[in-house]
Amino acid sequence: MTEMLTSYDPRTGLPVGGVAITPPEEVPAVVERSRKAFSEWKLLSHQERRTLLKRFKQVVLEEGEHIAEVVRSETGKPLPEAYSIDVLTGLTVMDYYIRNAEQLLRPRRGGSWPFVTTKGWTEYHPRGVAGVIAPWNYPFFLAMIPTITALSAGCSVVLKPSEITPLTGQLFATLADRAGLPSDLVQVIHGDGVTGAALAESAVDVLAFTGSTRVGKQVAAEAAKRLTPVILELGGNDAMVVLEDADLKQTARAALWAGMLNAGQACIAVERLYVVDSIYDEFLTNLDKAFDLVAVATEDERDIGPIINPPQLDIIEAHVQDAVDKGARVLRGGKRALTETGIYFEPTLLVDVDHSMTIVQKETFGPVLPVIRVANESEALRLANDTRFGLHGSVWSKDRGRAKRFASQMKSGTVAVNDVAVNFIVPTVSFGGIGDSGYGSNFGQDGIRTTFCYPKSITAARLPQATSKLLGSWQPRRGLRYWKTLAKILFRW
Ligand code: NAD
Repeated sequence: MTEMLTSYDPRTGLPVGGVAITPPEEVPAVVERSRKAFSEWKLLSHQERRTLLKRFKQVVLEEGEHIAEVVRSETGKPLPEAYSIDVLTGLTVMDYYIRNAEQLLRPRRGGSWPFVTTKGWTEYHPRGVAGVIAPWNYPFFLAMIPTITALSAGCSVVLKPSEITPLTGQLFATLADRAGLPSDLVQVIHGDGVTGAALAESAVDVLAFTGSTRVGKQVAAEAAKRLTPVILELGGNDAMVVLEDADLKQTARAALWAGMLNAGQACIAVERLYVVDSIYDEFLTNLDKAFDLVAVATEDERDIGPIINPPQLDIIEAHVQDAVDKGARVLRGGKRALTETGIYFEPTLLVDVDHSMTIVQKETFGPVLPVIRVANESEALRLANDTRFGLHGSVWSKDRGRAKRFASQMKSGTVAVNDVAVNFIVPTVSFGGIGDSGYGSNFGQDGIRTTFCYPKSITAARLPQATSKLLGSWQPRRGLRYWKTLAKILFRW
Protein backbone atom coordinates (compact mmCIF):
# COMPACT_ATOMS: atom_id res chain seq x y z
CA MET A 1 0.00 0.00 0.00
CA THR A 2 1.26 3.48 -0.86
CA GLU A 3 2.33 5.43 2.20
CA MET A 4 1.13 9.02 2.22
CA LEU A 5 2.78 12.21 3.46
CA THR A 6 0.33 14.76 4.82
CA SER A 7 0.92 18.49 4.72
CA TYR A 8 -0.49 20.76 7.45
CA ASP A 9 -1.32 24.44 7.62
CA PRO A 10 0.65 25.75 10.63
CA ARG A 11 -1.96 28.47 11.16
CA THR A 12 -4.61 25.89 11.94
CA GLY A 13 -2.81 22.59 12.40
CA LEU A 14 -5.25 21.11 9.89
CA PRO A 15 -4.24 18.95 6.92
CA VAL A 16 -4.18 20.69 3.54
CA GLY A 17 -3.28 17.78 1.31
CA GLY A 18 -0.99 14.84 0.82
CA VAL A 19 1.40 13.15 -1.58
CA ALA A 20 2.65 9.60 -1.98
CA ILE A 21 5.98 8.90 -0.28
CA THR A 22 8.70 7.65 -2.62
CA PRO A 23 10.07 4.43 -1.12
CA PRO A 24 13.86 4.82 -0.79
CA GLU A 25 14.45 1.66 -2.82
CA GLU A 26 12.73 3.37 -5.79
CA VAL A 27 15.12 6.32 -5.82
CA PRO A 28 17.80 4.63 -8.01
CA ALA A 29 15.19 3.99 -10.72
CA VAL A 30 14.12 7.65 -10.59
CA VAL A 31 17.76 8.68 -11.01
CA GLU A 32 18.14 6.30 -13.95
CA ARG A 33 15.11 7.86 -15.69
CA SER A 34 16.61 11.24 -14.99
CA ARG A 35 19.88 10.15 -16.60
CA LYS A 36 18.00 9.18 -19.74
CA ALA A 37 16.31 12.58 -19.82
CA PHE A 38 19.71 14.21 -19.32
CA SER A 39 21.25 12.34 -22.23
CA GLU A 40 18.78 14.09 -24.56
CA TRP A 41 18.59 17.46 -22.80
CA LYS A 42 22.37 17.95 -22.93
CA LEU A 43 22.33 17.56 -26.71
CA LEU A 44 20.04 20.56 -27.18
CA SER A 45 21.57 23.89 -28.04
CA HIS A 46 21.36 26.75 -25.55
CA GLN A 47 18.79 28.35 -27.83
CA GLU A 48 16.59 25.23 -27.79
CA ARG A 49 16.81 24.88 -24.03
CA ARG A 50 16.12 28.60 -23.61
CA THR A 51 12.91 28.33 -25.62
CA LEU A 52 11.59 25.54 -23.40
CA LEU A 53 12.73 27.14 -20.16
CA LYS A 54 11.09 30.42 -21.17
CA ARG A 55 7.81 28.52 -21.34
CA PHE A 56 8.52 27.17 -17.87
CA LYS A 57 9.02 30.74 -16.65
CA GLN A 58 5.83 31.83 -18.39
CA VAL A 59 3.85 29.10 -16.62
CA VAL A 60 5.31 30.14 -13.25
CA LEU A 61 4.30 33.74 -13.99
CA GLU A 62 0.76 32.72 -14.99
CA GLU A 63 0.40 30.46 -11.96
CA GLY A 64 2.12 32.87 -9.56
CA GLU A 65 -0.83 33.52 -7.30
CA HIS A 66 -1.73 29.85 -7.14
CA ILE A 67 1.90 28.98 -6.26
CA ALA A 68 1.83 31.60 -3.48
CA GLU A 69 -1.46 30.16 -2.20
CA VAL A 70 0.05 26.68 -2.03
CA VAL A 71 3.14 28.05 -0.25
CA ARG A 72 0.87 29.87 2.18
CA SER A 73 -1.24 26.79 2.81
CA GLU A 74 1.84 24.87 4.01
CA THR A 75 3.86 27.63 5.66
CA GLY A 76 1.17 30.03 6.85
CA LYS A 77 3.20 33.04 5.73
CA PRO A 78 1.20 36.06 4.58
CA LEU A 79 0.30 35.92 0.91
CA PRO A 80 2.29 39.04 -0.11
CA GLU A 81 5.38 37.52 1.53
CA ALA A 82 4.78 34.18 -0.22
CA TYR A 83 4.34 35.91 -3.57
CA SER A 84 7.16 38.43 -3.25
CA ILE A 85 9.88 36.09 -2.06
CA ASP A 86 8.91 32.65 -3.27
CA VAL A 87 7.34 33.55 -6.62
CA LEU A 88 8.87 36.89 -7.62
CA THR A 89 12.42 36.05 -6.63
CA GLY A 90 11.92 32.60 -8.13
CA LEU A 91 11.09 34.35 -11.39
CA THR A 92 14.10 36.63 -10.95
CA VAL A 93 16.53 33.74 -10.84
CA MET A 94 14.73 31.93 -13.66
CA ASP A 95 14.97 35.02 -15.83
CA TYR A 96 18.64 35.55 -14.98
CA TYR A 97 19.81 32.07 -15.94
CA ILE A 98 17.53 31.69 -18.94
CA ARG A 99 18.96 34.95 -20.32
CA ASN A 100 22.58 34.45 -19.33
CA ALA A 101 23.42 30.74 -19.24
CA GLU A 102 24.84 30.68 -22.76
CA GLN A 103 27.11 33.61 -22.16
CA LEU A 104 28.17 32.39 -18.69
CA LEU A 105 29.07 28.98 -20.09
CA ARG A 106 31.01 30.19 -23.09
CA PRO A 107 34.47 28.60 -23.29
CA ARG A 108 37.16 30.75 -21.64
CA ARG A 109 40.55 31.18 -23.31
CA GLY A 110 43.61 30.91 -21.13
CA GLY A 111 46.72 33.04 -21.62
CA SER A 112 49.69 31.83 -23.61
CA TRP A 113 52.54 32.70 -21.27
CA PRO A 114 54.80 30.82 -20.61
CA PHE A 115 53.73 28.00 -22.94
CA VAL A 116 53.79 30.14 -26.03
CA THR A 117 53.63 27.22 -28.40
CA THR A 118 50.31 26.00 -27.06
CA LYS A 119 46.92 27.63 -26.66
CA GLY A 120 44.32 26.46 -24.18
CA TRP A 121 40.69 27.03 -23.25
CA THR A 122 38.17 25.77 -20.74
CA GLU A 123 34.77 24.42 -21.72
CA TYR A 124 31.88 23.95 -19.27
CA HIS A 125 29.91 20.74 -19.58
CA PRO A 126 26.78 19.77 -17.63
CA ARG A 127 27.54 17.33 -14.83
CA GLY A 128 24.48 15.13 -15.42
CA VAL A 129 21.70 14.36 -12.94
CA ALA A 130 21.37 17.02 -10.25
CA GLY A 131 19.88 15.95 -6.92
CA VAL A 132 18.20 18.89 -5.20
CA ILE A 133 17.29 18.65 -1.49
CA ALA A 134 15.26 21.63 -0.29
CA PRO A 135 14.08 23.09 3.04
CA TRP A 136 10.65 24.36 4.12
CA ASN A 137 11.21 28.03 4.82
CA TYR A 138 11.10 29.28 1.19
CA PRO A 139 9.92 26.06 -0.38
CA PHE A 140 9.42 27.37 -3.90
CA PHE A 141 12.29 29.84 -4.21
CA LEU A 142 14.97 27.64 -2.64
CA ALA A 143 14.00 24.66 -4.78
CA MET A 144 13.82 26.88 -7.88
CA ILE A 145 17.37 28.26 -7.55
CA PRO A 146 19.17 24.92 -8.07
CA THR A 147 16.47 23.58 -10.38
CA ILE A 148 16.60 26.39 -12.94
CA THR A 149 20.38 26.69 -12.69
CA ALA A 150 20.83 22.96 -13.29
CA LEU A 151 18.39 22.94 -16.21
CA SER A 152 20.05 25.98 -17.78
CA ALA A 153 23.41 24.24 -17.48
CA GLY A 154 22.02 21.21 -19.31
CA CYS A 155 21.47 18.93 -16.29
CA SER A 156 18.32 17.03 -15.36
CA VAL A 157 16.81 17.36 -11.87
CA VAL A 158 15.51 15.08 -9.14
CA LEU A 159 14.00 17.27 -6.43
CA LYS A 160 13.36 16.16 -2.84
CA PRO A 161 11.33 18.91 -1.17
CA SER A 162 10.97 19.18 2.58
CA GLU A 163 8.45 16.78 4.11
CA ILE A 164 6.84 19.88 5.64
CA THR A 165 6.11 21.47 2.25
CA PRO A 166 5.54 18.60 -0.21
CA LEU A 167 2.66 20.27 -2.07
CA THR A 168 4.89 23.15 -3.12
CA GLY A 169 7.51 20.63 -4.19
CA GLN A 170 4.99 18.71 -6.24
CA LEU A 171 4.24 21.92 -8.16
CA PHE A 172 7.63 21.60 -9.88
CA ALA A 173 6.51 18.42 -11.62
CA THR A 174 3.12 19.89 -12.55
CA LEU A 175 4.51 23.19 -13.82
CA ALA A 176 7.32 21.53 -15.77
CA ASP A 177 4.77 19.24 -17.37
CA ARG A 178 2.49 22.15 -18.25
CA ALA A 179 5.42 23.99 -19.79
CA GLY A 180 6.13 21.02 -22.03
CA LEU A 181 9.56 20.20 -20.63
CA PRO A 182 10.70 16.71 -21.68
CA SER A 183 9.34 13.95 -19.49
CA ASP A 184 11.49 12.97 -16.48
CA LEU A 185 13.61 16.09 -16.88
CA VAL A 186 12.23 17.39 -13.58
CA GLN A 187 11.12 14.64 -11.20
CA VAL A 188 9.96 15.10 -7.64
CA ILE A 189 10.41 12.48 -4.93
CA HIS A 190 8.78 12.73 -1.52
CA GLY A 191 9.54 11.79 2.04
CA ASP A 192 11.60 12.82 5.04
CA GLY A 193 15.32 12.42 5.67
CA VAL A 194 15.18 8.76 4.67
CA THR A 195 14.23 9.70 1.11
CA GLY A 196 16.75 12.56 1.21
CA ALA A 197 19.50 10.15 2.31
CA ALA A 198 18.53 7.74 -0.49
CA LEU A 199 19.02 10.57 -2.98
CA ALA A 200 22.34 11.59 -1.41
CA GLU A 201 23.67 8.05 -1.72
CA SER A 202 22.27 7.49 -5.22
CA ALA A 203 24.16 7.84 -8.49
CA VAL A 204 23.34 11.56 -8.96
CA ASP A 205 26.22 13.53 -10.48
CA VAL A 206 25.87 16.57 -8.24
CA LEU A 207 23.93 17.38 -5.07
CA ALA A 208 22.56 20.79 -4.17
CA PHE A 209 21.54 20.76 -0.53
CA THR A 210 19.84 23.63 1.29
CA GLY A 211 19.02 23.08 4.94
CA SER A 212 20.48 22.82 8.40
CA THR A 213 24.17 22.52 9.24
CA ARG A 214 23.52 19.23 11.05
CA VAL A 215 21.95 17.52 8.03
CA GLY A 216 24.34 19.25 5.61
CA LYS A 217 27.26 17.48 7.31
CA GLN A 218 25.51 14.12 6.91
CA VAL A 219 24.83 14.82 3.23
CA ALA A 220 28.46 15.83 2.65
CA ALA A 221 29.67 12.62 4.33
CA GLU A 222 27.32 10.55 2.19
CA ALA A 223 28.33 12.37 -0.99
CA ALA A 224 32.02 11.86 -0.17
CA LYS A 225 31.61 8.09 -0.48
CA ARG A 226 31.06 8.46 -4.22
CA LEU A 227 32.99 11.73 -4.52
CA THR A 228 29.76 13.33 -5.67
CA PRO A 229 30.27 17.10 -5.84
CA VAL A 230 28.00 18.86 -3.40
CA ILE A 231 26.97 22.42 -2.71
CA LEU A 232 25.84 23.11 0.84
CA GLU A 233 23.67 26.14 1.58
CA LEU A 234 23.33 25.86 5.35
CA GLY A 235 22.32 27.86 8.37
CA GLY A 236 23.31 31.40 9.23
CA ASN A 237 23.91 33.53 12.31
CA ASP A 238 24.02 36.82 10.49
CA ALA A 239 25.39 39.99 12.02
CA MET A 240 24.16 43.49 11.31
CA VAL A 241 26.49 46.30 12.38
CA VAL A 242 25.30 49.86 12.95
CA LEU A 243 28.13 52.40 13.04
CA GLU A 244 27.73 55.83 14.64
CA ASP A 245 27.27 57.66 11.33
CA ALA A 246 24.40 55.48 10.06
CA ASP A 247 20.96 56.88 9.24
CA LEU A 248 19.42 55.69 12.48
CA LYS A 249 15.76 55.81 11.53
CA GLN A 250 16.19 53.98 8.26
CA THR A 251 18.59 51.47 9.80
CA ALA A 252 16.18 50.67 12.63
CA ARG A 253 13.47 49.91 10.07
CA ALA A 254 15.87 47.71 8.10
CA ALA A 255 16.87 45.80 11.25
CA LEU A 256 13.24 45.18 12.07
CA TRP A 257 12.47 44.02 8.53
CA ALA A 258 15.46 41.70 8.27
CA GLY A 259 15.00 40.34 11.79
CA MET A 260 11.35 39.53 11.21
CA LEU A 261 11.75 38.33 7.61
CA ASN A 262 9.60 35.22 7.19
CA ALA A 263 9.08 35.42 10.98
CA GLY A 264 12.87 35.09 11.31
CA GLN A 265 12.85 31.78 9.44
CA ALA A 266 15.31 32.90 6.81
CA CYS A 267 18.95 31.90 6.55
CA ILE A 268 19.82 35.57 5.90
CA ALA A 269 17.62 37.01 8.67
CA VAL A 270 19.47 39.24 11.12
CA GLU A 271 20.35 37.10 14.15
CA ARG A 272 22.77 39.50 15.90
CA LEU A 273 22.53 43.27 15.89
CA TYR A 274 25.65 45.23 16.96
CA VAL A 275 25.23 48.92 17.73
CA VAL A 276 28.07 51.24 18.71
CA ASP A 277 27.79 52.84 22.12
CA SER A 278 27.64 56.51 21.08
CA ILE A 279 24.34 56.09 19.22
CA TYR A 280 23.01 53.03 21.04
CA ASP A 281 20.27 54.77 23.04
CA GLU A 282 18.95 56.82 20.15
CA PHE A 283 19.01 53.80 17.80
CA LEU A 284 17.21 51.63 20.32
CA THR A 285 14.46 54.24 20.75
CA ASN A 286 13.93 54.12 16.97
CA LEU A 287 14.01 50.34 16.88
CA ASP A 288 11.61 49.94 19.77
CA LYS A 289 9.18 52.33 18.08
CA ALA A 290 9.50 50.43 14.80
CA PHE A 291 8.24 47.30 16.54
CA ASP A 292 4.79 48.96 16.61
CA LEU A 293 4.66 48.15 12.90
CA VAL A 294 4.59 44.39 13.33
CA ALA A 295 2.19 41.95 14.88
CA VAL A 296 1.27 38.29 14.63
CA ALA A 297 -1.86 36.50 13.54
CA THR A 298 -3.80 38.77 11.26
CA GLU A 299 -4.02 38.88 7.50
CA ASP A 300 -2.48 42.33 7.18
CA GLU A 301 0.54 42.81 4.91
CA ARG A 302 2.84 43.82 7.73
CA ASP A 303 2.16 40.69 9.71
CA ILE A 304 4.55 38.16 11.12
CA GLY A 305 3.50 34.67 10.07
CA PRO A 306 3.52 31.51 12.19
CA ILE A 307 6.42 29.26 13.10
CA ILE A 308 6.28 26.85 10.16
CA ASN A 309 7.89 23.84 11.82
CA PRO A 310 6.35 23.54 15.33
CA PRO A 311 9.45 21.98 17.03
CA GLN A 312 11.29 25.20 16.12
CA LEU A 313 9.21 27.00 18.77
CA ASP A 314 11.01 25.08 21.52
CA ILE A 315 14.38 26.16 20.14
CA ILE A 316 13.36 29.84 19.93
CA GLU A 317 11.92 29.75 23.42
CA ALA A 318 15.00 28.01 24.86
CA HIS A 319 17.33 30.59 23.26
CA VAL A 320 15.31 33.52 24.66
CA GLN A 321 15.14 31.89 28.11
CA ASP A 322 18.89 31.23 28.14
CA ALA A 323 19.53 34.88 27.25
CA VAL A 324 17.20 36.12 30.00
CA ASP A 325 18.81 33.76 32.53
CA LYS A 326 22.18 35.28 31.65
CA GLY A 327 21.03 38.87 32.04
CA ALA A 328 19.27 39.93 28.82
CA ARG A 329 16.11 42.04 29.04
CA VAL A 330 13.03 41.55 26.89
CA LEU A 331 11.84 44.91 25.54
CA ARG A 332 9.23 43.47 23.21
CA GLY A 333 7.54 40.08 22.90
CA GLY A 334 9.57 37.21 24.30
CA LYS A 335 6.94 34.51 24.34
CA ARG A 336 4.71 32.26 22.28
CA ALA A 337 1.57 33.75 20.88
CA LEU A 338 -0.74 30.82 20.71
CA THR A 339 -3.65 32.26 18.84
CA GLU A 340 -6.73 30.22 18.21
CA THR A 341 -5.64 29.73 14.65
CA GLY A 342 -2.01 28.79 14.93
CA ILE A 343 1.36 28.82 16.59
CA TYR A 344 3.29 32.08 16.57
CA PHE A 345 6.14 33.69 18.44
CA GLU A 346 5.78 37.35 19.30
CA PRO A 347 8.15 39.75 17.52
CA THR A 348 10.87 39.98 20.14
CA LEU A 349 13.43 42.64 20.98
CA LEU A 350 16.19 41.60 23.39
CA VAL A 351 18.78 43.97 24.87
CA ASP A 352 21.81 43.60 27.18
CA VAL A 353 22.82 40.62 25.08
CA ASP A 354 26.39 39.27 25.06
CA HIS A 355 28.43 36.47 23.52
CA SER A 356 28.00 34.09 26.46
CA MET A 357 24.41 33.54 25.32
CA THR A 358 23.20 30.70 23.10
CA ILE A 359 21.10 33.16 21.10
CA VAL A 360 24.33 34.76 19.86
CA GLN A 361 26.20 31.52 19.29
CA LYS A 362 23.54 29.52 17.47
CA GLU A 363 20.95 30.03 14.76
CA THR A 364 17.59 30.86 16.40
CA PHE A 365 15.46 30.94 13.24
CA GLY A 366 12.66 32.93 14.82
CA PRO A 367 11.34 36.52 15.05
CA VAL A 368 13.89 37.63 17.64
CA LEU A 369 16.30 40.57 17.44
CA PRO A 370 19.10 40.40 20.04
CA VAL A 371 20.92 43.74 20.36
CA ILE A 372 24.55 43.90 21.48
CA ARG A 373 26.15 47.18 22.56
CA VAL A 374 29.73 47.59 21.32
CA ALA A 375 32.32 50.23 22.20
CA ASN A 376 33.39 51.03 18.66
CA GLU A 377 33.91 49.80 15.10
CA SER A 378 36.78 47.48 15.91
CA GLU A 379 34.86 45.73 18.69
CA ALA A 380 31.89 45.40 16.33
CA LEU A 381 34.10 43.70 13.76
CA ARG A 382 35.71 41.38 16.28
CA LEU A 383 32.36 40.25 17.68
CA ALA A 384 30.61 40.03 14.30
CA ASN A 385 33.37 37.64 13.22
CA ASP A 386 33.18 35.62 16.43
CA THR A 387 31.01 32.85 14.97
CA ARG A 388 31.32 29.47 13.32
CA PHE A 389 28.81 30.55 10.67
CA GLY A 390 29.43 32.89 7.73
CA LEU A 391 26.46 33.30 5.43
CA HIS A 392 25.52 36.95 5.44
CA GLY A 393 26.26 40.20 7.23
CA SER A 394 25.53 43.86 6.82
CA VAL A 395 27.13 47.15 7.81
CA TRP A 396 25.51 50.57 8.03
CA SER A 397 27.31 53.91 7.74
CA LYS A 398 26.84 57.09 5.70
CA ASP A 399 30.55 56.93 4.90
CA ARG A 400 30.42 54.41 2.07
CA GLY A 401 34.19 53.97 1.86
CA ARG A 402 34.34 53.12 5.54
CA ALA A 403 31.40 50.72 5.25
CA LYS A 404 32.95 48.97 2.24
CA ARG A 405 36.24 48.52 4.08
CA PHE A 406 34.32 47.06 7.02
CA ALA A 407 32.36 44.76 4.69
CA SER A 408 35.59 43.39 3.21
CA GLN A 409 36.76 42.41 6.66
CA MET A 410 33.59 40.58 7.68
CA LYS A 411 33.99 36.80 7.82
CA SER A 412 31.08 35.91 5.62
CA GLY A 413 30.22 34.61 2.15
CA THR A 414 27.96 37.60 1.47
CA VAL A 415 27.76 41.12 2.92
CA ALA A 416 25.46 44.06 2.20
CA VAL A 417 26.46 47.71 2.63
CA ASN A 418 23.62 49.97 3.81
CA ASP A 419 21.24 47.19 2.88
CA VAL A 420 20.48 43.80 4.30
CA ALA A 421 19.46 40.32 3.11
CA VAL A 422 19.40 41.58 -0.46
CA ASN A 423 22.21 39.24 -1.59
CA PHE A 424 19.67 36.47 -1.30
CA ILE A 425 17.71 37.90 -4.21
CA VAL A 426 20.41 39.38 -6.44
CA PRO A 427 21.20 36.55 -8.88
CA THR A 428 24.04 38.35 -10.66
CA VAL A 429 26.63 37.78 -7.91
CA SER A 430 27.48 34.58 -6.10
CA PHE A 431 25.66 33.56 -2.93
CA GLY A 432 27.07 31.03 -0.52
CA GLY A 433 28.51 30.57 2.94
CA ILE A 434 31.69 29.65 4.74
CA GLY A 435 32.28 27.63 7.92
CA ASP A 436 29.10 26.13 9.35
CA SER A 437 27.12 27.92 6.63
CA GLY A 438 28.43 25.50 4.03
CA TYR A 439 30.37 25.74 0.80
CA GLY A 440 29.81 26.22 -2.90
CA SER A 441 27.87 28.96 -4.61
CA ASN A 442 24.50 29.72 -6.02
CA PHE A 443 23.91 32.62 -8.41
CA GLY A 444 26.16 34.41 -10.85
CA GLN A 445 28.77 32.65 -12.92
CA ASP A 446 30.02 30.49 -10.03
CA GLY A 447 26.51 29.16 -9.41
CA ILE A 448 26.26 27.65 -12.87
CA ARG A 449 29.84 27.06 -14.00
CA THR A 450 31.35 25.39 -11.00
CA THR A 451 28.21 23.94 -9.43
CA PHE A 452 26.32 22.27 -12.24
CA CYS A 453 29.11 22.03 -14.83
CA TYR A 454 32.53 20.52 -14.82
CA PRO A 455 35.36 22.40 -16.45
CA LYS A 456 37.10 20.62 -19.30
CA SER A 457 40.35 22.19 -20.41
CA ILE A 458 41.59 21.61 -23.91
CA THR A 459 45.00 22.57 -25.19
CA ALA A 460 46.00 22.72 -28.83
CA ALA A 461 49.55 22.95 -30.15
CA ARG A 462 50.11 26.07 -32.25
CA LEU A 463 53.30 24.67 -33.76
CA PRO A 464 53.77 21.00 -32.81
CA GLN A 465 57.35 20.85 -34.05
CA ALA A 466 58.29 23.98 -32.17
CA THR A 467 56.85 22.61 -28.96
CA SER A 468 58.86 19.48 -29.40
CA LYS A 469 62.07 21.37 -30.11
CA LEU A 470 61.70 24.11 -27.56
CA LEU A 471 60.43 22.16 -24.63
CA GLY A 472 62.08 18.92 -25.51
CA SER A 473 59.04 17.25 -24.07
CA TRP A 474 59.30 14.39 -26.51
CA GLN A 475 62.13 11.95 -26.78
CA PRO A 476 65.06 12.26 -26.79
CA ARG A 477 64.96 14.16 -23.49
CA ARG A 478 67.15 17.21 -23.05
CA GLY A 479 69.76 17.42 -20.32
CA LEU A 480 69.68 19.39 -17.05
CA ARG A 481 71.75 22.26 -18.44
CA TYR A 482 69.17 22.97 -21.09
CA TRP A 483 66.31 23.13 -18.52
CA LYS A 484 68.28 25.44 -16.24
CA THR A 485 69.00 27.79 -19.12
CA LEU A 486 65.35 27.75 -20.17
CA ALA A 487 64.23 28.55 -16.60
CA LYS A 488 66.60 31.55 -16.53
CA ILE A 489 65.42 32.83 -19.89
CA LEU A 490 61.76 32.57 -18.94
CA PHE A 491 61.74 33.65 -15.32
CA ARG A 492 64.69 35.91 -14.64
CA TRP A 493 62.60 39.12 -14.72
P1 NAD B 1 16.79 20.29 7.40
O1 NAD B 1 18.25 20.16 7.32
O2 NAD B 1 16.09 19.71 8.57
O3 NAD B 1 16.10 19.66 6.11
C1 NAD B 1 16.44 20.05 4.81
C2 NAD B 1 16.12 18.94 3.83
O4 NAD B 1 16.97 17.83 4.09
C3 NAD B 1 14.70 18.39 3.94
O5 NAD B 1 14.21 18.15 2.64
C4 NAD B 1 14.88 17.10 4.70
O6 NAD B 1 13.89 16.13 4.45
C5 NAD B 1 16.21 16.63 4.16
N1 NAD B 1 16.95 15.68 5.00
C6 NAD B 1 16.82 15.45 6.32
N2 NAD B 1 17.70 14.49 6.71
C7 NAD B 1 18.41 14.13 5.61
C8 NAD B 1 19.47 13.21 5.38
N3 NAD B 1 20.00 12.48 6.34
N4 NAD B 1 19.97 13.11 4.12
C9 NAD B 1 19.47 13.88 3.11
N5 NAD B 1 18.45 14.74 3.28
C10 NAD B 1 17.93 14.87 4.52
O7 NAD B 1 16.51 21.85 7.25
P2 NAD B 1 15.13 22.61 7.36
O8 NAD B 1 14.72 22.57 8.80
O9 NAD B 1 14.19 22.12 6.32
O10 NAD B 1 15.53 24.11 6.94
C11 NAD B 1 15.98 25.06 7.84
C12 NAD B 1 17.47 25.22 7.76
O11 NAD B 1 17.84 25.53 6.42
C13 NAD B 1 17.98 26.38 8.59
O12 NAD B 1 19.16 26.00 9.25
C14 NAD B 1 18.30 27.44 7.56
O13 NAD B 1 19.24 28.39 7.96
C15 NAD B 1 18.75 26.62 6.41
N6 NAD B 1 18.64 27.38 5.17
C16 NAD B 1 19.78 27.75 4.49
C17 NAD B 1 19.70 28.52 3.34
C18 NAD B 1 20.92 28.97 2.57
O14 NAD B 1 20.79 29.40 1.43
N7 NAD B 1 22.11 28.90 3.13
C19 NAD B 1 18.45 28.90 2.87
C20 NAD B 1 17.33 28.52 3.60
C21 NAD B 1 17.43 27.74 4.73
